[in-house]
Amino acid sequence: MPGFVRLREAYDFVIVGGGHAGLQAGLKAALLQYTAVVVDRGPKYSRSYYAPRMANIPGFAEPVSGHELLDRQLAALKPHEERVSYVSPARAVAARRTDGGFEVDFEWLGATRTVRGRALLLAHGVVDRIPSVGGKIDPIFPWANQGIVMFCVLCDGHELPGQTVAVIGSDAFAARLALELLHFRPKSVEILTHGEPFLATAAPEERADLERELAEHGVRWVEPAMTAFHGIREKRFGVAFADGSRREFDRGFSGLGWYDRHQELPRQLGAAIDAEGYVATDEDSRVLAADGSGPIPGLYCAGDLRSGWNQIPEAWATAERAVIDAYARYL
Ligand SMILES: Cc1cc2nc3c(=O)[nH]c(=O)nc-3n(C[C@H](O)[C@H](O)[C@H](O)COP(=O)(O)OP(=O)(O)OC[C@H]3O[C@@H](n4cnc5c(N)ncnc54)[C@H](O)[C@@H]3O)c2cc1C
Repeated sequence: MPGFVRLREAYDFVIVGGGHAGLQAGLKAALLQYTAVVVDRGPKYSRSYYAPRMANIPGFAEPVSGHELLDRQLAALKPHEERVSYVSPARAVAARRTDGGFEVDFEWLGATRTVRGRALLLAHGVVDRIPSVGGKIDPIFPWANQGIVMFCVLCDGHELPGQTVAVIGSDAFAARLALELLHFRPKSVEILTHGEPFLATAAPEERADLERELAEHGVRWVEPAMTAFHGIREKRFGVAFADGSRREFDRGFSGLGWYDRHQELPRQLGAAIDAEGYVATDEDSRVLAADGSGPIPGLYCAGDLRSGWNQIPEAWATAERAVIDAYARYL
């Protein structure tokens, strides 16, 4: 859906990101009689855009795709266009605090614009690192789009019982993910390090502990680089390796972590970043200051960008908390 825009200079809320959190915040702001602008790079940059069947979304008896859910959230916002501008594709590039609130610069239609808000909600998510072959990420998309290669334990772990699973990754994060997946009772788990030496970046003690635990659970790792994928018609994750060998698995799982934590705007605004790289907030989604002075008045963060679980109901809840807190306490 193209953006619906009656751009004003100033709003009650500026919302950066129009994924699940940002769209819910826009809706809630409109219902509470506020004006808001949602500055969004576009749905295809939402983490859920490529999620084919999400089973934990309240109100959906059958799994729903992320794409469809975003469409529905946008459709729910559209009737409020008198109050809420949805500007997309637009990319926020800078943000700062001012006397009356906040200013955000964003690129839209080839120009840089500035919008002001009394409150600012950061909801521009995080970006997964995508498994690549030959330096390209496109080859994995057919498997990711069908949910044969997965990215989120909390979202898709329930599909793993009895399955053979390949975890792609080479560091301690991938090793811990492989161990975590055993909770779902897969038939087997194997780690594909894709040409990287396994656990080379881990501290010696951590490496020894992880190797021992993996061995105890029969989790092996193979180090040759992946060169191609096959088996999509059979809904299998087939992998060809640089040494000429081929393997097939029921499912693949990315253990590569994050490509971009989107810390730039939060840092510009003086936000604290927690040990895992997320924006630190209190339980009302208020952003905490890096200098330890407590919540930054009027600055909120919701969804995957903030410290907490990366789930859509969580994105909705944290967005609701932000807008309600601004209503009750700040605006
Ligand atoms: C494969 C997969 C399957 C998943 N399955 C499930 C599931 O089954 N259930 C579940 O609850 N969760 C699932 N998730 C997690 C879910 O997708 C995220 O928790 C959710 O998308 C977070 O919402 P968000 O609004 O914080 O971020 P996103 O939905 O990622 O949206 C971020 C938005 O910010 C925009 N943006 C980014 N940078 C800028 C910028 N500089 N300026 C303007 N806009 C910007 C993007 O265009 C995007 O629209 C899954 C994730 C993946 C990857």
